[in-house]
Amino acid sequence: MKNRNQRPGSPRLRTPKRPPASPSRPPRPPAADLHIHTTHSDGVCSPCEVVIAAANIGLSALAITDHDTLSALAVARPEAVRLGLELVGGIELTAEFEGREVHILGHFVRDDEPALVAATTALRRDRVERLKGMVGRLAALGLSVDLTALGRAFPRATLGRRHLAEWLVRSGQVSGHREAFTRYLGDDGPAHVPKPRLAGAVAIALIQAAGGVAGLAHPSYDLRELTLRGLVDAGLGSIEVEGHGMDARRGQRLRAWADRYRLIPIAGSDFHAGDRPGRWIGSITTPGADLDRLRERATRPPLPPGGDSGEPIVPEDCDPGRYLPA
Ligand SMILES: [Zn+2]
Ligand SMILES: [Zn+2]
Repeated sequence: MKNRNQRPGSPRLRTPKRPPASPSRPPRPPAADLHIHTTHSDGVCSPCEVVIAAANIGLSALAITDHDTLSALAVARPEAVRLGLELVGGIELTAEFEGREVHILGHFVRDDEPALVAATTALRRDRVERLKGMVGRLAALGLSVDLTALGRAFPRATLGRRHLAEWLVRSGQVSGHREAFTRYLGDDGPAHVPKPRLAGAVAIALIQAAGGVAGLAHPSYDLRELTLRGLVDAGLGSIEVEGHGMDARRGQRLRAWADRYRLIPIAGSDFHAGDRPGRWIGSITTPGADLDRLRERATRPPLPPGGDSGEPIVPEDCDPGRYLPA
């Protein structure tokens, strides 16, 4: 199970112990991957694994930005401290603005902020209802999903379409994820139920109240300047200016808008799993100078390395070699 996705012959990534910098090789400039998912939402690597992977790649910082949950941060923090890596408290909130879904990233948020924690708890509760709705629709189409077993298979995840697709594949009811989405679970598919979403301005306000900087994730290709201005008026502080499938021209336009509206340009891999080529941890990064600007714009000091929740931290699987390229 542990090594099921490891490619034959690929060397397993070892847990690094921060070797002293080699005198012959200049240190890499600071770079941060500010958009990473873990098993606490819909990623396949545990919080601890993504920290180890980021250290292996030579990043100076990473942000875990799970969908609508902060729970990975407390688990990842001790590992980041051990490896001397900066862990930026992050989240990706599912929101709606002008009738469309937008994803609002939060960076340097504190994971002990009651309002943000309460909002994410409510979102996840609504997600459970959504999941049950989709399972009901699949059943009406002649497909079966055992929700209890699905929960056991992904014990910490916020279950969603990706997990349903995985179930359908593993149980042989579809040939692959593509079929699961094109026939059933895609946005226009007969089993799809829309995701619960926060109002965009509420998502931004929650992130600010938690001390963080709110950023627009993967801006849509048809994002209008007027829409962006509306988000800026609501308190947006950063915007992703690089991403998979985003060409250089589009990136330039986003950077120009970032300049015009004093938004900090940010970037990250949006890493979920090894099955999305080119989206490995560290494949897209934010330079150290922009990370510094983001840190300066945050309004509350981050939690201390050990956190202060007093909750015991349950160790989780740590084997980044499973999903990372050789
Ligand atoms: Zn997103
Ligand atoms: Zn994401």
